[in-house]
Amino acid sequence: MPVKKIIIVGGGNAGLSVAAQLLAKEKDLQISIIEPSEKHYYQPAWTLVGAGIFDINKTVRNEVDFIPSKATWIKDAVESFVPDENKVVCKSGAAYSYDAMVVCPSIQLDWNKIQGCKETLGKNNVSSNYAFDMAPYTWELIKNFKGGTAIFTNPTSPIKCGGAPHKIMYLACDYWRKQGILDKCDVHYLSGAGAIFAVKEYAATLVEVVKKDNIKTHFSVNVTAIDGTGKTIQYEEKDKEGITVKKELKFDLCHIVPPQSAPDFIKSSPLADPKNTYGYVDVNKNTLQHKIYPNIFALGDCTNAPCSKTGAAIRKQAPVVVENVLSFLKEQQVAGEYTGYSACPIPTEYGKLMLAEFDYTNTPTMTFPINQAKPNWAMWILKVKVLPWLYWHKILRGTA
Ligand SMILES: Cc1cc2nc3c(=O)[nH]c(=O)nc-3n(C[C@H](O)[C@H](O)[C@H](O)COP(=O)(O)OP(=O)(O)OC[C@H]3O[C@@H](n4cnc5c(N)ncnc54)[C@H](O)[C@@H]3O)c2cc1C
Repeated sequence: MPVKKIIIVGGGNAGLSVAAQLLAKEKDLQISIIEPSEKHYYQPAWTLVGAGIFDINKTVRNEVDFIPSKATWIKDAVESFVPDENKVVCKSGAAYSYDAMVVCPSIQLDWNKIQGCKETLGKNNVSSNYAFDMAPYTWELIKNFKGGTAIFTNPTSPIKCGGAPHKIMYLACDYWRKQGILDKCDVHYLSGAGAIFAVKEYAATLVEVVKKDNIKTHFSVNVTAIDGTGKTIQYEEKDKEGITVKKELKFDLCHIVPPQSAPDFIKSSPLADPKNTYGYVDVNKNTLQHKIYPNIFALGDCTNAPCSKTGAAIRKQAPVVVENVLSFLKEQQVAGEYTGYSACPIPTEYGKLMLAEFDYTNTPTMTFPINQAKPNWAMWILKVKVLPWLYWHKILRGTA
């Protein structure tokens, strides 16, 4: 195959995995990774940081150490796409052309969609594990809580790691139980989803945990505002007639998860799905090839593939994208298929975790020869020890 130029937009979990895997298969590819950040973050550990059992400094490393030696790092941010000319334009004004492009700049945290959120985040007992500099504050709040009302939110939009909004709630309740204060805690879960979990086999386990922790759940609600100094959160809920009513709760501790959507430069581009309110990249959900531009592929949190947005999903998506990009460049049929696999490791207490694995049909697809819907210690060790090691040493290197 003559030398082909590939551009990867975003050198995160997805971009680094794909770059490494492509080069392992075709060492002569000319791969450029456009990535503005000097740092790369292992976000799945932020839940553990918020629960006081993981060092935040171990979740960040230098991007340069993970760019494959045969790839070129363009330290810039993509601003616009000109797919009809096979070109991307960066913030610096530089433009780059490609034979094939892989788009994976993740998802945007829309903090501004909750009024007052930006102003109060990181103080006034309001935190979020969705930001590197905030996760340690979550632990400060949980550790110092002496009882009162604790609120955990989950937005109405799709988010990265659908489990993260409630994982931290179960760990907080377990910590308070062990401190002997859980009976003084009034814990509320304000969720935009219609149920605790979409896959019924795993939901059954979580319903029991919610009961044991005495958590009050509020489903299909939309958090609209938070007043940190007044310690009040506002949300919308439909009444029995289907009419939206405004409600509010006072809190002493609040863990917020922001609404999320495609990054603005994706939303406003020809790559976005025009029918998707969140502006995600419009791909075939199995081949991950763009529906209009066949030399563009996308994976990770930025696509409209209706899977759960996780690093676990990327582990299955990356080899499919690699196979299909190479087939496309060789003018062969694009045959690699992603089945929607995702995984959500949900700790239900310190030392016990339920590894929820499933696909597009919301059918459990368990890897291990045990009932993974039953929280256990082995899966906890997988999350706390094995997966972080696997991520830095194998996944980002394209070997797992
Ligand atoms: C609190 C929390 C808990 C989580 N828990 C889990 C879990 O237990 N298990 C699990 O599998 N997943 C979990 N996840 C989700 C997982 O972290 C993400 O799904 C994964 O990181 C997505 O990878 P990505 O490559 O799409 O995005 P990222 O890894 O975020 O990389 C995107 C890259 O694109 C770059 N970029 C942004 N804008 C531009 C631009 N304009 N031009 C070029 N580059 C750009 C960014 O700088 C970044 O480096 C969790 C996430 C959070 C926040």
